[in-house]
Amino acid sequence: MRFDTIIIGGGLAGLVAGIKLTSEGQKCAIISSGQSALHFFSGSFDLLGYNGTNEIDNPIEAIAGLDAKHPYAKLGASTVAALANEAKDFFASMGVRLNGDASANHYRISPTGELRKTWLTLDKHFACDSLESLSLGKTLILNIDGFLDFHPHFLSDGLKRQGVDCHVASVTIDELQRLRTSPTEMRSANIAKVLHKDDAIVRLTEKIAEKSQGFDTVILPSVFGIYDSLMENYLVERLKCNVKLVSTFPPSAPGIRLQMALKQRFQNLGGVYMLGDMVTNGHFEGNRLMDIHTANHKDIPFEADNFIIATGSFFSHGLQAHLNSICEPIFNLDVTASGERQQWFDQNVFETQPYMSFGVVTDSNLHPQIEGQSVENLYAVGSLLESANCLKEASGAGVSILTALKAANNILKR
Ligand SMILES: Cc1cc2nc3c(=O)[nH]c(=O)nc-3n(C[C@H](O)[C@H](O)[C@H](O)COP(=O)(O)OP(=O)(O)OC[C@H]3O[C@@H](n4cnc5c(N)ncnc54)[C@H](O)[C@@H]3O)c2cc1C
Repeated sequence: MRFDTIIIGGGLAGLVAGIKLTSEGQKCAIISSGQSALHFFSGSFDLLGYNGTNEIDNPIEAIAGLDAKHPYAKLGASTVAALANEAKDFFASMGVRLNGDASANHYRISPTGELRKTWLTLDKHFACDSLESLSLGKTLILNIDGFLDFHPHFLSDGLKRQGVDCHVASVTIDELQRLRTSPTEMRSANIAKVLHKDDAIVRLTEKIAEKSQGFDTVILPSVFGIYDSLMENYLVERLKCNVKLVSTFPPSAPGIRLQMALKQRFQNLGGVYMLGDMVTNGHFEGNRLMDIHTANHKDIPFEADNFIIATGSFFSHGLQAHLNSICEPIFNLDVTASGERQQWFDQNVFETQPYMSFGVVTDSNLHPQIEGQSVENLYAVGSLLESANCLKEASGAGVSILTALKAANNILKR
């Protein structure tokens, strides 16, 4: 099977690259072994939120202070700024409404009630530009009865610390009560599915409207839609107060929705998405990758002019830790991993974890290397890359989206 470009990994990075390339007329395939980190999505894309423990207000200006190996440092601040604008247009063209700007981080609220700096937040989700502008008025945090993946008291504590007048209550309808017979059923994706049926959302909205009388703002768990955002729109139209959604513990309903929308967009553009197959190895001639093999297709090679590897970090098995070494398991690409095993992590889970910055080494054009030699038709993108500690610096989605766009643009230029 032959394609213009084959992308290994169908998470945020792989799909963004695939959509960009197919929309410019390329024949592309994405091969993905499983689901992605989007199923854990907070509702916000981070670009660069923190320098150590210090908050970053302007991510573009902060790029100058990054290590030279960081993906943003390799791209350069002006390219990051241009790609960040391209990313906003990219999602807008798919009908995904996001608020925020690369030159001025805003705050999102985490499921544990912490205000965190971020770049773009899904429309209708909690966001505020500054602590001074946090004007919610009298606020009700409303959970669904028995839903354990949303913690109103954590949120309330967090908001009360900022001076918000917060109250907590819960609401339900019969269909949702039935999910409670098993705690494993009472999850965000299942709640969203139940609300899609018949007039469940209409009745739940009526109950929410009753409870929220006399409040200026109602905060709800983000469980309104894994197929589309129609239920969110309905809620906002019907309720008389401000409505703010806050992401839940996983699975993330808006993350699943985003993953499905990206996949659908790629397929509508003619892309081939192969889910459940794993790329096992590749065949190189000189510094070019000629073809790859997968677990399901065994001896049948997949050939392409260009390849993109977007297999994620340890979480998605894009990187693997062995007793004394870290490797990229498909091609054995060069990775940065310093020190002995004991130095890969800090015993204190809240400290910076060195292993989070391990990743694949690339040159400035995102070509990875094998024994120091760049592979000229292979690009490495996303959370697989070295030096970005997505958790500590809040840079995850930004690195994935911008490096994916950059690799796609490089391929199109060739
Ligand atoms: C739990 C979690 C939550 C996060 N939440 C956020 C957030 O809310 N906001 C934010 O900005 N950042 C977040 N991040 C950072 C995150 O890394 C990025 O946002 C981004 O989604 C990562 O996308 P990716 O495509 O690089 O990797 P992934 O999403 O990990 O996707 C990699 C894909 O490659 C596939 N794959 C792996 N090996 C193979 C193989 N051999 N063959 C074929 N396919 C393969 C996997 O199955 C997977 O589908 C989070 C990270 C994690 C781990």
